[in-house]
Amino acid sequence: MRIVLLGPPGAGKGTQASRLASNLGLVHVATGDMLRAEMSAGTELGKKAKGYYEAGDLVPDDIMIRMIAALIEDEGDEAGMVLDGFPRTVPQAGALDEVLQHSGGAIERAVNLRVSRDELVRRIAGRLICTSCQRPHNIESSPPGKEGVCDECGGELVQRPDDRPEAVERRLKVYEEQTAPVLGYYEKSGRLRQVDGEQDPDRVFSLLLAAVR
Ligand code: AMP
Repeated sequence: MRIVLLGPPGAGKGTQASRLASNLGLVHVATGDMLRAEMSAGTELGKKAKGYYEAGDLVPDDIMIRMIAALIEDEGDEAGMVLDGFPRTVPQAGALDEVLQHSGGAIERAVNLRVSRDELVRRIAGRLICTSCQRPHNIESSPPGKEGVCDECGGELVQRPDDRPEAVERRLKVYEEQTAPVLGYYEKSGRLRQVDGEQDPDRVFSLLLAAVR
């Protein structure tokens, strides 16, 4: 099964996509995590993406489409996947369908996690991410056992540069203008489902499971 998880920044895509992938035995593909890994390794792709990323802008479609097409071509998609953070524009959604068509696959479901703007801003302000395994934590809702240390791997927890208030405003605007139209793309082909992302994480997860089954 191939699933796309949609929603604004701070909606819980990373946390829920990771849970969904382990529950259904699918591969979790997170383009934001892939970019962060490229940037910390200092690759050419990482250098190209850095300026856009830190400002809260989208990395250009051609770079992102090449990155996802290479992943699918190199690793195959037979195991199925949960995509988190891709597609973020209508051209990316179209390109994804085309790439999968070549391998005989398709996105069967797109699920949108709906969360109000006030709640998004509150969640992002408290978010910390592990520099080593990228697991997200939240000072308020899921504080680490030891301050500044990842519960999962012991790595260092930091605020993402794009979670600073100036970049968050920009990301929410970019979401409204460029990513929200992706909902219409999946709606038209009957693949879109909506889930209330403001419930507690366990409840959101069971709603999500019901939506993809
Ligand atoms: P995320 O971790 O999914 O919130 O992504 C963090 C940042 O990475 C975004 O604000 C963009 O700058 C960049 N990014 C991740 N995925 C994409 C994508 N599909 N298209 C363009 N930019 C992306």
